[in-house]
Amino acid sequence: MRVKDALACAQSLTDSDSPRADIETLLMWVLNKPRSYLYTWPDADLSSAQAEQFGELIEKRRQGEPVAHLVGFRDFWTLRLAVSNATLIPRPETEMLVEWALEHLPSTAQSVADLGTGTGAIALALASERPNWQIIASDRIPDAIELARRNALMLNLPQVDFRLGSWLEPLQETFHLILSNPPYIDPQDPHLDKGDVRFEPRSALVADEKGLADIRWIITQAPPYLVSGGWLVFEHGFDQAAEVRAIFEAQGYQDVFTRQDLSGHDRITGARTPH
Ligand code: GLN
Repeated sequence: MRVKDALACAQSLTDSDSPRADIETLLMWVLNKPRSYLYTWPDADLSSAQAEQFGELIEKRRQGEPVAHLVGFRDFWTLRLAVSNATLIPRPETEMLVEWALEHLPSTAQSVADLGTGTGAIALALASERPNWQIIASDRIPDAIELARRNALMLNLPQVDFRLGSWLEPLQETFHLILSNPPYIDPQDPHLDKGDVRFEPRSALVADEKGLADIRWIITQAPPYLVSGGWLVFEHGFDQAAEVRAIFEAQGYQDVFTRQDLSGHDRITGARTPH
């Protein structure tokens, strides 16, 4: 099997949203080469061991296993994060929370919390950009905290303080900004039975009240954990912005805003405490 034959297997990944990218990632992993190699050396032969490993990975991908689980990592922001089936696989749209924080907070020392950190993606991306910020991240799943700590070590970002506990429970501090990508999918949503989400923990995806229960809980409980004028910002589903804004307003927050992702869908909503 040559590199170009392996790349042509993309055609067989009919259920994937991104067959070409999937094949490239699997092949780079098997060959331990960068993407440029795949297009510079299309006629290079895979060894028989490589061909066998590649065949096994393709078969698992055909069965629906996420590429990130097959190779053990997912790139997020500028970081390569280890992933496991204990957490959500980081998504590109979640980088919007990181972007928003970098644009709206001063680069001087700030205190920031990331609730339900999973792999540590949001907290670690911010730590990589703002070494002087105090960043605390919580998760109630022990395996997630262990994974996030391992990522922090691998990325040499030991300043992030990962704490075991649900949402705000392990925090005593006050923050300039609290961020979260909580579960927000309606338990009835049919897309839970398709694609990569089948292999991710339900607890990271699904929330009661049509997906809004955790967002509502955090909005209600967060004010004592925010400095005056401190921000609380969420990722949410494309059709939830109006409801999230209404919850913020009912709780007396100010300066409520929503931002769209690159596909034009409402994706993050936030607000600040009175100042
Ligand atoms: N955006 C993810 C999805 O729809 C859900 C992430 C989440 O629930 N926080 O697959």
